[in-house]
Amino acid sequence: MYGKIQKHLQKELESIKEAGLFKEERIITSPQGAEIELDTGEKVLNFCANNYLGLSNHPSLIEAAKEGLDTRGYGLSSVRFICGTQDLHKKLEKKIAEFFGTEDSILYAACFDANGGVFEPLLTSEDAIISDSLNHASIIDGVRLCKAQRYRYKNADMADLEEKLKIAQDQRFRVIVTDAVFSMDGNVAPMDKILELAEKYDALVMIDEAHSAGVVGKTGRGITELFDIRGKVEIITGTLGKSFGGAIGGFTTGKKEIIELLRQRSRPYLFSNSLPPAVVNAGIKMFDMMAETHELQDKLHDNTRYFMDKMKNAGFDIKPTQSAIIAVMLCDAKLSQDFAARMLEEGIYVIGFYYPVVPKGEARIRVQISAAHEKEHIDKCIDAFIKVGKDLYLIK
Ligand SMILES: *Cc1c(COP(=O)(O)O)cnc(C)c1O
Repeated sequence: MYGKIQKHLQKELESIKEAGLFKEERIITSPQGAEIELDTGEKVLNFCANNYLGLSNHPSLIEAAKEGLDTRGYGLSSVRFICGTQDLHKKLEKKIAEFFGTEDSILYAACFDANGGVFEPLLTSEDAIISDSLNHASIIDGVRLCKAQRYRYKNADMADLEEKLKIAQDQRFRVIVTDAVFSMDGNVAPMDKILELAEKYDALVMIDEAHSAGVVGKTGRGITELFDIRGKVEIITGTLGKSFGGAIGGFTTGKKEIIELLRQRSRPYLFSNSLPPAVVNAGIKMFDMMAETHELQDKLHDNTRYFMDKMKNAGFDIKPTQSAIIAVMLCDAKLSQDFAARMLEEGIYVIGFYYPVVPKGEARIRVQISAAHEKEHIDKCIDAFIKVGKDLYLIK
């Protein structure tokens, strides 16, 4: 039985390798942090994690996770609406809404599920979803699961969005959907203009805060803080798996009727297990920390500025960014791979991206800055960029 498809799969795998797109996994033997240890015994500085606030191995979160284990056990063995809701889940949902200045929130196993389960309960074939072309895969999948008419506008292109909104005027409801921060460039969605258009053409707005929450805005409240539009966006999705501790978990937060209906109808919520108490209790602790101080955001923003300035001065071509994602443009696919390999030899872990992950001719090294980085880490990273850049004739 298996023989025929086995040959087919082997061929498929071969073609991925031939295209140079086969993804290998690097094995880490330490906790996540600014410095990590690999199974080769090498110690490297990590500049490619979504650990923006340095919370992935934070003692307070580890302690809160242990407290969750000790007081509420290991797992729930249930979905939320049967016997999988603890006081902790309700508390975390409330904290998320407070953080974003929204009315209510609902937890998911991941942001992938939040995005996968948000459209279908709210919209039908009478409605329209108007989505940025660079939106995350989970948004694209969520849109596919829903019968609404689909429109795609060019990344952050407001003239194109307006075109699509005009075409979609015949539909009952319209939702504009965008990532808050686009993960390959680090640019933010132009929320001021998006809200203007939403008003003009009678549309709801949904944003995915995954790379933005915790990072963007003076106190890390995300893109709605940056644009001073707290409470004005109807739907926000986000993850606990990036700046917020990096374990697992996602959420949708926004208008209360929307959240209430998701609790009734959203399939990844209804038919998938509750988040474990350790993760939930650490999440609560994390939002308490965010409410107390924005020291981590200050440090992250300082680090990002410092890195950007020094890299530009050294002659590197850097994309404009408003997040902790910095794209160092190399433009050549092979160069991006050689460059990343040479950086690792210098003890710096960064990833080179090229087509089809980014447009043709826009190969780059993506650097992710963290509040866990000290100045000496960042200096070491910049020095390595300069050394490798000179060796590979990229800069003088
Ligand atoms: C990472 C990411 C997700 C997925 O989050 P998980 O919680 O890991 O499933 C969704 N949307 C965007 C924009 C992301 O960057």
